[in-house]
Amino acid sequence: MSDHSADDEYVIPPGGGVPWRDVTMEETLRSPDRDVEITGISRIVIRGNFPWSLVRVETDAGVTGIGETFVGEESSDVARRLEELLVGQNPLDIDRLMSHLDQNRAGTGSFGRSAFAGIEIALWDIKGKLFDLPVYELLGGKYRDEVRIYCDTHAGESLGQAQKNDPTEVYTPEAYATAAAEVVEEGFSAIKFDLDVPTHREVDTAARRLDNEAIEHKASLIAAVRDRIGYDVDLAVDLHWNFTVESAIRLGRKLEPYDLAWIEDPVPPEKTDAHRRVTRAISTPVLTGENVTTREGFLTLLRNDAMDIAAPDVNKTGGLADLRRVADLCDMYGIPVAPHNISSPVGTIAGVHFAASIPNFLALEYHARDVPWWGDLVEWVGRDGPVIEDGFVAVPDAPGLGIELDEEVVEKTATDEFDGWE
Ligand code: MG
Repeated sequence: MSDHSADDEYVIPPGGGVPWRDVTMEETLRSPDRDVEITGISRIVIRGNFPWSLVRVETDAGVTGIGETFVGEESSDVARRLEELLVGQNPLDIDRLMSHLDQNRAGTGSFGRSAFAGIEIALWDIKGKLFDLPVYELLGGKYRDEVRIYCDTHAGESLGQAQKNDPTEVYTPEAYATAAAEVVEEGFSAIKFDLDVPTHREVDTAARRLDNEAIEHKASLIAAVRDRIGYDVDLAVDLHWNFTVESAIRLGRKLEPYDLAWIEDPVPPEKTDAHRRVTRAISTPVLTGENVTTREGFLTLLRNDAMDIAAPDVNKTGGLADLRRVADLCDMYGIPVAPHNISSPVGTIAGVHFAASIPNFLALEYHARDVPWWGDLVEWVGRDGPVIEDGFVAVPDAPGLGIELDEEVVEKTATDEFDGWE
């Protein structure tokens, strides 16, 4: 804490008077007990099913915030480098600090947007701890006490492994049905499968076209799942931007009898016209958004009637405030939000606070069923129990995100490229 009083004046930033909207503020006018400064940013990368990139923001108030960028080292690397723009700034001014970073063009690329998200989540954690309030409360309060989780589910082998084997023997209707039944048994009421799995080796993947055999194979997988789990479970499929418009429409129409909750990313979302054509041609809702990292990107999709459900990624979209802005835009167009999330419990619980605070929420992704120690990375503050229970996360009421990292698990599972938090 610095010792300036409320009588101090704002410091005119260097170059004051030039026609440039400088939002740096070397000293903020606040009572001394809220005059906090950021003292450093560090990161660590965890060896999960993806490299989960955790970010820690330290302050001079004895309070530390944790956040998470999108997976991989690149985004947390950017977050680490942004330290020089943030040290000395007041962490309570979250929007102003994000504008400051944006002004410095640090957030124009996807790694930058994701670095912002990691830092911004940590700032909310700090703010909540300082004000003794949970993050959802700071975001405007909650619409629900529990956040519904949908489980990303794999059957057979991962896509990488499958290249070595005959895909028709790996991605079988029985494998899909069995995996679906297991996940429903675990308590989830919403699940998602990849459906861009290979069918046979001779398909020209570069051409992005599905032949009839491929479409029949994909439909057989979904038919088997519906046979096993019935129609009361929300069932979605992901196509990872892999197909042409005509193939996506032919597949979408073939899948209509199975009442899917959504078809995800049939074509790349930046091809707005193509996305609109698929969305309008099939009755199953079309979802996109995990690679759309700005409000402007979502607004383009909304104004062009090019999606039915939005899926902004919790750790790619610039932070919780921007996620709420995206959700608000979507609400104006009557579009629900099902956030994309492949992160550790840190990013997931940040997503829970966001999801609790918006009206138009559908379900939040969980993508770590293959990692039995996923939930061990964190401990609830003030309560016991797993992170996810019966397909829901109870919205935490402890200050900030409401979690602490289990540093022993962090240490055991961190990549050895760093010497702890760096
Ligand atoms: Mg996806």
